[in-house]
Amino acid sequence: QAGRNSYQFFSSEMNRLVVEGHRMKVALHEALNRHEFELYFQPIMDHSSQRIVSMEVLLRWRRAGNELVSPGKFIPLAEESGLIIPIGAWVLRAACQQIESWRRQGIEVPRLTVNLSMKQLGTKQFVHDVITILRETGVRADCITLEVTESMLAENTTDVAQKLHQLSSLGFHIAVDDFGTGYSCMALLKNYPIDLLKIDQTFVRNICADKNDAAIVIAIIAMAHGLGMRVVAEGVETPEQLDFLSEKNCDFYQGYLFYKPQPASDIVNSLRRSDVFVSLR
Ligand code: C2E
Ligand code: MG
Ligand code: MG
Ligand code: MG
Repeated sequence: QAGRNSYQFFSSEMNRLVVEGHRMKVALHEALNRHEFELYFQPIMDHSSQRIVSMEVLLRWRRAGNELVSPGKFIPLAEESGLIIPIGAWVLRAACQQIESWRRQGIEVPRLTVNLSMKQLGTKQFVHDVITILRETGVRADCITLEVTESMLAENTTDVAQKLHQLSSLGFHIAVDDFGTGYSCMALLKNYPIDLLKIDQTFVRNICADKNDAAIVIAIIAMAHGLGMRVVAEGVETPEQLDFLSEKNCDFYQGYLFYKPQPASDIVNSLRRSDVFVSLR
C-alpha cells in the first residue's frame, strides 16, 4: 500500500491486519449458513411528486457478537473468493421475498434496486438463475432494477451486452452505479439497454462549491437525457445540493437528506408515518 520503490519492516500491526482479514474470510464462508446477512433499504425519491420510486437494497453482515459489517469491508473479500455468487443470489431472492411479504401486508413497494457484481453477471447461468428466483418468489421483473458499474460494461462486452439485453427485455430496469468514477466510456453506453445513470456521491458532495464537479454533473444529466436515460443523484445530504440538482433537471435523489438505509421493519414504520410515500392499501 505504500507504493513501489519502498520497503517497510514487518510490524505487529501488519500481522494484525493479515490475521483479521483471514478471520473475516473464514467467517464469511459460514455467514450464509448462519443467516448473518440482512438487507437494508434506502429510498430513491422523485422530488417533484415527493414519492418513492424505488428503494436500493444494501447488504449488511451481522457477525457473531452483533457487530454490523458494512459492504465496503466484506464485498471485496466475497468477490475475491467467489462467494459473491451465492451471496448475490441470496440478496436477490431475499429482496423478492421482501416485496412479497410487504405486499401481503398491503404495502406496495414500487420497485427494489439490487447491486450486481461482475463475478455474478459473468456466470454462464446468471439470467437463468434470475428467472428461477422470480418464478420461486412470484415477483415480476419490472419490480426490480439491476445496478451494474461502468467497469462491468467495459469488460467482455458482447457477453455482458447479451445478458443485459435479455434481462431488459424480460422487464428489468438497468442502472449504471457510481457513474463517472470508473473508466467512463461514453461510446459503450449506447450499446446497452440502460434506463438510469446514478451520479456518484463524490461529484454530489461538493457540487455547490466546486465548479468542475458542477460542470461534470450538468454534462452527465444532459448526456443521459439525450440518450433517453434518467438520472439519480447519490449521496444527497443538504437542501443546497438538492436545489442545485433539481434546477439542473436531475430526475431522482437518494441520500441522507431523505432517508438513511434502514432495516425492513424500520423503513416500513417511517413510510407509514408519512402519507406521501408508497401507497398503502
Ligand atoms: P452503492 O451501490 O453506490 O450504494 C450507495 C452507498 O452510499 C451505500 O453505502 C449508502 O449507504 C451510501 N449512502 C447513501 N446515501 C448517502 C449519503 O447521503 N451520504 C453518504 N456519505 N453515503 C450515502 P453502503 O450501504 O455502505 O454500500 C457500499 C457499497 O457496497 C455499495 O455502493 C455497493 O457498491 C456495495 N453493495 C452493497 N450491497 C451490495 C450487494 O448486495 N451486492 C453487491 N455486489 N454490492 C453491494
Ligand atoms: Mg448501488
Ligand atoms: Mg452507487
Ligand atoms: Mg457509491
